[in-house]
Amino acid sequence: MGTEPEQYFDELETMTPEARQKYQDDNLYQTIGYAYRNSPFARSILDKAGVRPFSIRTARDLELLPVSRKNDLIEAQKATPPFGGLLSMPAADIERVFISPGPIYEFQPSGIQWFAKAFYAAGFRQGDIVVNTFTYHMSPAGILFHEGLRHCGATVVVMGTGNTDALIKAMLDLKVTGFVGTPTFLLAVIKRAEEMGYSFEKQFAVKKAWFTGEMLPPSLRKVFEGNYHLDTSQAYAVTEPGGAIAYECREKSGLHLMDEYIVEIVDPQTGKQLKPGEVGEIVVTPIHTKGWGLVRFGTGDMSSIVKEPCPCGRTSAKITGFLGRTGDAVKVRGMFIVARQAEQLIASFEAVSRFQIIVDRQANRDEINLKLELKDDSGDKGKLIDDVNRKFQDICRVKLDNIVLVSPGTIPEPYQPIQDVRKWE
Ligand SMILES: [Zn+2]
Repeated sequence: MGTEPEQYFDELETMTPEARQKYQDDNLYQTIGYAYRNSPFARSILDKAGVRPFSIRTARDLELLPVSRKNDLIEAQKATPPFGGLLSMPAADIERVFISPGPIYEFQPSGIQWFAKAFYAAGFRQGDIVVNTFTYHMSPAGILFHEGLRHCGATVVVMGTGNTDALIKAMLDLKVTGFVGTPTFLLAVIKRAEEMGYSFEKQFAVKKAWFTGEMLPPSLRKVFEGNYHLDTSQAYAVTEPGGAIAYECREKSGLHLMDEYIVEIVDPQTGKQLKPGEVGEIVVTPIHTKGWGLVRFGTGDMSSIVKEPCPCGRTSAKITGFLGRTGDAVKVRGMFIVARQAEQLIASFEAVSRFQIIVDRQANRDEINLKLELKDDSGDKGKLIDDVNRKFQDICRVKLDNIVLVSPGTIPEPYQPIQDVRKWE
């Protein structure tokens, strides 16, 4: 935050729409052509789909190809060890290999500043001393975040996962100014420090916290920012296609897409691209490295695209963040609804303590019923129903059929935010 002019990491962040289109189209075209010639994995995807590489000229054309998933990579690597035909650069140019559960061997070329843009937008600079609490073993997290911070000039304390008390001591001794980890872990660190008798606010120098790897609920963000005066930021990262996909700016209302990838939001059942605002699966094609023969990688994560210009001056589109997994999404009248999206919109209504969406089917039509548990009986109920109706349609893009106000404790346990009771006969 602050009033100083926004600084950008590179010129890509502020490209005009035309320049971005050209940059992405050119890189996509070259990447697909190169992958077709050099990666047997990519070649077989195109050949099976009957698509020639020169037919892929723009993001829209990617719809011609199927979405590849984690399991496809595991199977390919089993069939053709070690890299499953995904490698399309000389093996000697690989800087390092990560091992993801599967196992999937992920190789990376050198010289790419994978996470620097995300840390830069979050305000990390020279003079910062940052604890990196992600693991440095096997997974890309530790080392890639480490390098990203270094590219912004920050000093990194190589912490990794493990001993919370040792971490707390290091944070105090070294006057650490930044924390990199998961929101849950930072909360645990703060609580532990308080148990040890410290005042996190008064005795620690931490000013910034950067999160990835799990969602940052608005309520927890409020705790960090309100109670502990931390400036929080988050990034969305996926291991298989190479790292950071999207990152927050100081506006903290959505995550800017990296221009090094083509990011599509698609219907996970059909692979068809969805419109801005519609919730679907995040599908990623890296276009900044010729090393990977990875085309249309389905992340299994749900989000939606925001196209409105961002006051920060970055011109890329944003995603609304991680809204859930494809398995948790319910498709109603052609639109996906995920619990987190409903959660976010309900959270803005003070009077409501809990909600449940029940999806039913009557006379061959999907019906969406919303139950709201109220904190107490006061307040204008008619207005509440109108406001929730309007906001639901705005955000979830489908109209509710019914809202029922119920008393506290009515929604059954175990709590299911969305219940799909449709019978398909
Ligand atoms: Zn922005």
